[in-house]
Amino acid sequence: MTSYVFTFGGGVGSSDPRSRDKTIVGGKGANLAEMAGIGLPVPPGFTITTEECVRYLAEGGDFSAEVQAEVAKALGHIESAVGKKFGDAADPLLVSVRSGARVSMPGMMDTVLNLGLNDATVEGLAASSGDERFAWDSYRRFIQMYSDVVLGLNHHAFEDALEIAKEDQGYYADVEMQAADWQALVAEYKAIVAAELGRPFPQDVHEQLWGAIRAVFDSWDSDRAKVYRRLNDIPGDWGTAVNVQAMVFGNMGDTSATGVAFTRDPATGEKAYYGEWLVNAQGEDVVAGIRTPQYLTKAARTRAGAKPLSMEEAMPEAYGELAAVFELLEKHYRDMQDIEFTVERGKLWMLQTRSGKRTAKAALKMAVDMVGEGLIDEKTAIRRIDPMALDQLLHPTLDPDAPREVLARGLPASPGAASGAIVLDADTAQAHAERGEAVILVRVETSPEDIHGMHAAKGILTARGGMTSHAAVVARGMGRPCVSGASAVSIDLASRTLKIGQCELKEGDVITLDGANGDVMLGHVRTIEPELVGDFGTLMVWADQHRRMKVRANAETPADCRTARQFGAEGVGLCRTEHMFFDDKRIAAVRQMILAEDEGGRRAALAKLLPEQRADFHAIFEVMAGLPVTVRLLDPPLHEFLPHSDAEFEELSDVIGIGTATLKRRAEELHEFNPMLGHRGCRLGITFPEIYEMQARALFEAACDVAAASGAAPVPEVMIPLVATRRELEILKALVDRTAAAVFGEKGRTLDYHVGTMIELPRAALLAGEIAEVGEFFSFGTNDLTQTTLGLSRDDSAKFLNAYVEQGIFPRDPFVSIDIDGVGQLVSLAAERGRATRPDIKLGICGEHGGDPASIAFCEKVGLDYVSASPFRVPIARLAAAQAALG
Ligand code: PEP
Ligand code: MG
Repeated sequence: MTSYVFTFGGGVGSSDPRSRDKTIVGGKGANLAEMAGIGLPVPPGFTITTEECVRYLAEGGDFSAEVQAEVAKALGHIESAVGKKFGDAADPLLVSVRSGARVSMPGMMDTVLNLGLNDATVEGLAASSGDERFAWDSYRRFIQMYSDVVLGLNHHAFEDALEIAKEDQGYYADVEMQAADWQALVAEYKAIVAAELGRPFPQDVHEQLWGAIRAVFDSWDSDRAKVYRRLNDIPGDWGTAVNVQAMVFGNMGDTSATGVAFTRDPATGEKAYYGEWLVNAQGEDVVAGIRTPQYLTKAARTRAGAKPLSMEEAMPEAYGELAAVFELLEKHYRDMQDIEFTVERGKLWMLQTRSGKRTAKAALKMAVDMVGEGLIDEKTAIRRIDPMALDQLLHPTLDPDAPREVLARGLPASPGAASGAIVLDADTAQAHAERGEAVILVRVETSPEDIHGMHAAKGILTARGGMTSHAAVVARGMGRPCVSGASAVSIDLASRTLKIGQCELKEGDVITLDGANGDVMLGHVRTIEPELVGDFGTLMVWADQHRRMKVRANAETPADCRTARQFGAEGVGLCRTEHMFFDDKRIAAVRQMILAEDEGGRRAALAKLLPEQRADFHAIFEVMAGLPVTVRLLDPPLHEFLPHSDAEFEELSDVIGIGTATLKRRAEELHEFNPMLGHRGCRLGITFPEIYEMQARALFEAACDVAAASGAAPVPEVMIPLVATRRELEILKALVDRTAAAVFGEKGRTLDYHVGTMIELPRAALLAGEIAEVGEFFSFGTNDLTQTTLGLSRDDSAKFLNAYVEQGIFPRDPFVSIDIDGVGQLVSLAAERGRATRPDIKLGICGEHGGDPASIAFCEKVGLDYVSASPFRVPIARLAAAQAALG
């Protein structure tokens, strides 16, 4: 027979394992049962299951006779444990009613205290407690809470009535209210309820109880709860449990108290009790901030220079008992606990325990400390850290105490916080940065031409573009904070002004970006520098011991490669060569090459680029000595390199000696309507083989030179982008092999190298078996593969993707977290077909998904050999790969 209700406390808890199963009795219920089970002082109570909630919400109507009978029996359990009767006018049992889902959900109904009071029982409470003031105070609290959370009345009316009552008496604080004052207020409260509802406040205690039970269940479907669930990926069919528990009172005079505590400091992770308490108060007084709570420990009070005594000093006995409970709970749960307690006339009662929320820094410290204390093992420590939380530790973050004025919110494209003066173009950014000024580059969207400005800026803000837009990808790679797709930003370049939301600004005005949540703020907001403390390194070592996949970095400059190595990258998984072409000194030669009429013209321009490109590779191979480096040959649509303004055409005309009219005609010919699906990727190599030939030559010459100089021969992996057919790869591999042979002949040495391809098009994934006959490795370019599989532009979709996520069409932005069902299927299939042809084929991922923990878990399942992520994501990927391997 299924139980709908489980009892706990009073020395006779349920032995059914379901009574401690969070999915059945919710987190709060499970922990109360658990605490009672290990002998801690928990007020007796019972929990109505989440299953009953799901049924109630689906079917509506009345509770079944079975449920009603079980509740009655469970109420009897509390009555006999406490020795009081519910509704007894002489000595009444009072209860609290609380919601409790599997995970704590601030969106739901929280608590009703003192339930069971009415015009008769209040007298009984006064008599049995010997404290009339306490009884009437409890009653007025109950009416207010019940009216607010169960009857849906606004609490302001009650608060106003209390304020007026105090004013009439000339009182300043609630503590001055006497029994008769509270009694008069209760009458007023009841009048407010009757006026608002058209019926009196319920006097029947059973009606009160069932009303509260219904309110808890109904709150699962409240708008607030729904929003919270959507934001936190909580399924709507979990339901909430209801916890009904005997009241204990922290407001029975100066030997009573209430408080909240953490067994370790949730901000720093320090092994020291941390908490707040109030003498003669009920729980909501601490939370609601009606009175200023006092420090729990003497050490904390002294450190803060506060006068009111700590609990350690004021109630040494209860405090000693509480400290013993802290130790016991930490040992039992093997984690830091967040606890609520009450002291009633000197006796300690535990009201709640749960694993406490903590900062990333504290999470690391606690995990490492607990391994040292023998509380948990390394695997548990690895599992316990949210990889994305490490981001907080790698970038400057906003000082949580700093005041801020948020102007707009965009996408959190690249984490970290930065302040600086607004600049509206890349050249201005560079010029100001060279003068030592902090600047924020604000653009409608960025393009490869803006790279120098992005590098010079402290942060980047764009009005358009999604999470894999140019700005987002490049900023993450550089470790620059970036907010993209902030549609509230409109720029007027002519007047050098902009509007952010309602705020009119001009170039030079200071703003602050928070790339972690997408906020754009006015003025300078204080930041805190990251601190890579020892615990971070320790955890990374453990993670490395437990992961199977390698972690590489997407990096294209020696500086990025150095950062990547510092963060533990085991190679470069994607060196995008196009950004090397945008350098001020080189762009003219690149444009000359593109706009040349024939191969001869292109070769002349490429000859100028060869030494520059060779130097790039040389530097990268040096930094990455001994590690694999995957170099991708030129990929972007040619049109990205074309001059735009008349000035740019004239400048180019001067440099290369071709008239502007001819240049413009040629540029016109190269214009594309849909460049993302146009003349890009390996199509460039097929039509202009001399470009790839120059790049391959530069690469092999640099590799030979580094091998000669250092003795450590790099192993280049040459990667061909956007391949759709076996034949494309075959033609281009032959070109690379020919070039390698030529260079090795000239240099008098041979090096190992590999030629492989990106899998970025559905056709390539489907025909991976054939393509693997030629390619020695695959790297999944899931940015383009997502774009081409979903037919969804990576640059334009940010505008509407939010709506897709909100309506549950995609669980998350598919450019951030891989679409496992669709794109993921193509990845698995390509891996399988590639391996069938070439069992030792090396498989990796280099799209942005390579830095996303959920996507990394998917890569582990598919059995990829490595993931490649932007340098600042490397530690996240190392930890996520370890968690994925641990399962
Ligand atoms: C990809 O498409 O996933 C990729 C890594 O290449 P890019 O982002 O440079 O197009
Ligand atoms: Mg791509």
